[in-house]
Amino acid sequence: MTFRATILTLYPEMFPGHLGHSLAGKALERGQWAIEPVQIRDLAEDRHRTVDDTPAGGGAGMVLKPDILAKAIDHISADDHRPRLLMSPRGRPLTQKRVRELATGEGVVIVCGRFEGVDQRVIEARQLEEVSIGDYILSGGEPAALTLLDAVVRILPGVMGNALSGTHESFEDGLLEYPHYTRPQVFEGREIPAVLTSGNHAEIDRWRREQALKLTAERRPDLLDGSAKT
Ligand code: SAH
Repeated sequence: MTFRATILTLYPEMFPGHLGHSLAGKALERGQWAIEPVQIRDLAEDRHRTVDDTPAGGGAGMVLKPDILAKAIDHISADDHRPRLLMSPRGRPLTQKRVRELATGEGVVIVCGRFEGVDQRVIEARQLEEVSIGDYILSGGEPAALTLLDAVVRILPGVMGNALSGTHESFEDGLLEYPHYTRPQVFEGREIPAVLTSGNHAEIDRWRREQALKLTAERRPDLLDGSAKT
């Protein structure tokens, strides 16, 4: 089964973007996943192909119209059961857990907002799951959609060259990852920690675990005390 991402956007040319390169790009070429950008504007029927309008109640900016967005969503077949996401700073913060769930499914439909956002009624009427990639505001949902897809595609079966290299990452075991080193043995007077070149794998595992715990306690205590939303 090929993981299929359908993206509703005013900027279809932004896709596949960086996902057309490197391992994700090769997997795309091999047909291990597929991306189908849909131009929302193509669903507008008036002469000017209007997709937005001024906010009810006044205020700055424009709001994406619910009727056009609903039509774009309905345009995707009715027996399509992929999760329908809306990239939104008000959404539930994206986690590796949600990424893993999405990667085991058949794909996603992602709506990319622009301007001030989208009319609330289409979010409710089409049961869009709002997803945020962090507590900051982007100018549009496209880079957020690419970020989410990047996280999902890299863990699809067969996408990463070395299958193991996907399993010891930050967050996978509830901790930040230990630090990495490679040659040269001495860089600007700094040596690779001796344990890593000792050949003692039990010691190396213990050292890495300690480092991971120390880093997590320093930088992300919320991951240790269970308050993190993972
Ligand atoms: N006025 C809105 C922000 C609109 S930004 C508010 O204050 O909540 C325009 C679009 O960019 C949004 O509709 C959304 O699709 C996208 N976007 C911006 N920041 C985002 C974030 N942190 N995560 C996901 N999508 C985001």
